Amino acid sequence: MAATPDSPSAPSPRRKVSRHRGEGQWAVGHFTPLNGNEQFKKDDDGLNVRARIETIYSKAGFDSIDPNDLRGRMRWWGLYTQRKPGIDGGKTAVLEPEELDDEYFMLRVRIDGGRLTSGQLRVIGEISQEFARGTADLTDRQNIQYHWIRIEDVPEIWRRLEEVGLSTTEACGDTPRVILGSPVAGIAEDEIIDGSPAIDEIQRRIIGNPDFSNLPRKFKSAISGSPSLDVAHEINDIAFVGVNHPEHGPGFDVWVGGGLSTNPKIGQRLGAWVPLEEVPDIYTGVISIFRDYGYRRLRTRARLKFLLADWGAEKFRRILEDEYLERKLIDGPAPEQPVHRWRDHVGVHRQKDGRFYVGFAPRVGRVDGATLTKIAELAAAHGSDRLRTTAEQKMIVLDVTEDRIASLTAGLEALDLRVEPSPFRRGTMACTGIEFCKLAIVETKLRGATLIDELERRIPEFDEPITININGCPNACARIQTADIGLKGQLMLDRDGNQVEGFQVHLGGALGLEAGFGRKVRGLKVTSEELPDYVERVLGRFQKEREDGER
Ligand code: SF4
Repeated sequence: MAATPDSPSAPSPRRKVSRHRGEGQWAVGHFTPLNGNEQFKKDDDGLNVRARIETIYSKAGFDSIDPNDLRGRMRWWGLYTQRKPGIDGGKTAVLEPEELDDEYFMLRVRIDGGRLTSGQLRVIGEISQEFARGTADLTDRQNIQYHWIRIEDVPEIWRRLEEVGLSTTEACGDTPRVILGSPVAGIAEDEIIDGSPAIDEIQRRIIGNPDFSNLPRKFKSAISGSPSLDVAHEINDIAFVGVNHPEHGPGFDVWVGGGLSTNPKIGQRLGAWVPLEEVPDIYTGVISIFRDYGYRRLRTRARLKFLLADWGAEKFRRILEDEYLERKLIDGPAPEQPVHRWRDHVGVHRQKDGRFYVGFAPRVGRVDGATLTKIAELAAAHGSDRLRTTAEQKMIVLDVTEDRIASLTAGLEALDLRVEPSPFRRGTMACTGIEFCKLAIVETKLRGATLIDELERRIPEFDEPITININGCPNACARIQTADIGLKGQLMLDRDGNQVEGFQVHLGGALGLEAGFGRKVRGLKVTSEELPDYVERVLGRFQKEREDGER
């Protein structure tokens, strides 16, 4: 079913057409675009911008780009304009979008399930060196992001990516974004179930399909059959989490309506168990509910979490069953709590086939094209053709035989990629920040890398798992609300009354074990400069005063 405004199937006859504008839900007949984003999506499908990029914009250059394509539809192909260098964070909210726009783009490569071959990684690294001034960041959604991309080079980049089976299709925009998957799917000794076939089928059915390319906003998804709960399932619009059903065996528990940013929400369980082969149907049903019933009036209320908050999980499941699946789902159990607090798979671990996987940590996901190419070469030289990105800005080399672990580890360490990192390097993530992001208020990547180095020097004995997540603005790209220490970038006054970069502090957030959001400590802000002192004080006090087993 495809209830698009132009589709003969919309609205469905069983649905009442209302004369009120309401929340802009298509399913109740509200097809009139109620904001600029809805208008440009109605005017032309975001997927169609590709043809214009290939035939017009890449030839005529940046100035030829239609503004609705530039700041709207190009996202459907993973392209955002990046921030003009040298504009400070105080101007972010003041300037018009066109004043912030550079002529260069960020380009996001979607890596569903975080799965890469060494050949694919080599191509990603080569593109970075040739077209992106060597930039490449591992994101916390298993993607790899370039900067400094010129519109003229985009068709050639697509050609090279697609030649090795990669794409940027719907990597951004109001679309089904990358599908997170357990980075150790199919290989982990303790796996409950391998979700990879479902990821492949959803990719085939949904990604790039015009029936699902005009959603109210982004749609984030995650599938993992790992007991480590390694894909941040709690904060996705839909997530499938591996469970063992007492009668039916291994399958997935369905979660919907998670999301961070403003009004953060932990997803809710529908209480339903689904077998692997039915995961794509449930995904299709839920994304269809979002498309048809999702709120399109206000961008700030357009994520699935707002619909779920109004309906509740019970009604959501009923509508899914009655209107989309036309059958009842089987009740099922909740996932078990994970045994380990680290969910990143860093370190050396045995696979179920007797070989090993080796997870390693750059600083705050920052790598570069040359390093990615070397990682690909290292993996291949050690007999591995498979790598994975993680949802914690880390990477993993799979299928390493025992006799090659030491040599691979030494090669990674020589690239400053730690297989046994400090808890600080392991647990610190940072978003893109002011270097490239137009919404940013403060710098994040360099700040995060410096913080790691400082903490390693100052408290080398600290051995507790810790997460420190750094955002450059009030959005939540680095998941600040779910970190032990979450840092939200903002401008503030220092002791001398000067306006400087700093952070609002959130403490005590978590995923997995006791998932919940950190508390904003009223009035607690710290300048960027003082960040290492502040974190050192918090951790020192924690070490001194913690009780047995206290996190
Ligand atoms: Fe940009 Fe803000 Fe997201 Fe960071 S959190 S990448 S600054 S939008």
